[in-house]
Amino acid sequence: MNARNLALQAYYCGTYPVRRFFRACVEASGQAPLCVLFYHRVADSHPNEWTISNREFQRQMLWLKRNVDLVSLEEIQSRMRSGRNDRIAAAITFDDGYAENADRAIPFLLENEIPTTYFVALDFVMHKRCFPHDVDRGVPLAANTPKQIRAMADAGVEIGAHTRSHCDVGAIADVTTMIDEIDTTTDELETLINRPIRYFAFPFGLKHNLSAAAAHLINRRGMLGVCSAFGAYNFPGDDPFHIKRIHGDPDFIRLKNWITIDQRKMHHGRGFTIPETAVKVSDVQSRLESANTAKVSEKSADKKSADNPQVGPILGLHPSLTDNLHQQS
Ligand SMILES: [Zn+2]
Repeated sequence: MNARNLALQAYYCGTYPVRRFFRACVEASGQAPLCVLFYHRVADSHPNEWTISNREFQRQMLWLKRNVDLVSLEEIQSRMRSGRNDRIAAAITFDDGYAENADRAIPFLLENEIPTTYFVALDFVMHKRCFPHDVDRGVPLAANTPKQIRAMADAGVEIGAHTRSHCDVGAIADVTTMIDEIDTTTDELETLINRPIRYFAFPFGLKHNLSAAAAHLINRRGMLGVCSAFGAYNFPGDDPFHIKRIHGDPDFIRLKNWITIDQRKMHHGRGFTIPETAVKVSDVQSRLESANTAKVSEKSADKKSADNPQVGPILGLHPSLTDNLHQQS
C-alpha cells in the first residue's frame, strides 16, 4: 500500500464511527447518495491505472452486494426522480469496450445478477482498433468484437454509446462531427445489437469534456441519460438526466471511502450544469431543422412522382425537373 492509501486508510478508520452515524442519518431522512461506478478493464495481465484484477473486482462486487443496494442505472434515476433514497445505492458501468471483460467479469456480474451498463466506443469494436492511450504506452490491448457486444446485449447487459472515435466531445468544433459522433454512431450501435440504446457516456468525462449540444442530441433521441465521470455522488432530487460517476478504483480503500460517504465530497458537482461548448445547442437545432425540411420536400417530390409514374421514375429526372414537366403538361 502506498503512502497516499495509507493516509486514506487512517482517515477511513478514524472517521468510521462518524461515518456510521452520518450514514444512518441520511438513510433515515431518505437522502442517501446514489453512487455510479465506472470501470474500464478487468484482467490479470498488463496492469495499469484503468485495469483491475479479476480477484479484486470480484471482491469489490461482493462487498458492494453486502453493504449497499446494487441497482441498474434506471433504478438510480428513478430514486433521483422520486426525491427519496433510503439506502446507499450503487450501479456498475464500464467504458470503452475491452475484450478481456467478456472472459470473467461480465459472466461474474450476470451470475450474481448485478445490473451492468457497458459503454462502447464503436470504431474500436467494428474495426478491431486498439485505443490510442494503450498504443501510446506500447501495449495495444484488444477491444471487444461485435459478436461479444451482441452476446452481452442478449444476456441482459445494457449496452450504451461512447462515441465513434472516443473523442473529447467538449472539444468538437463543428456540427457535422458532433452529429456523427453522437447521433449517427448511436444509430449504428442500435443496428449492431438490434435494440434501442438508452444511455450515453462522455469519453474522459471531466467537466470540460461535456457538451450541452451533445446532451441535447441525446435527449432529442428519447434516450434516458448521459454519464459524466468527474467523481461525484448523485442525490435524490437531482436532475436524473445527468448521471455523475465515480471511478471504480482498483484500490479497495478508495472505493470503500466513497461508498461509505466521504463528507468532504458531498458537495462535488452539486448545482453543476453541462456547459455550452464551441458547438452550441442552437447550432445542432438549426442543422437538424434544415435536414428535416430537406427530407419533407424530398418526400413530397417522391409522392408527386408516384402519383404520375410515367413521368419522374421512367425518365429518372431530379424531382425539381419533374415538377417543371408537370407544370408544362
Ligand atoms: Zn472512455
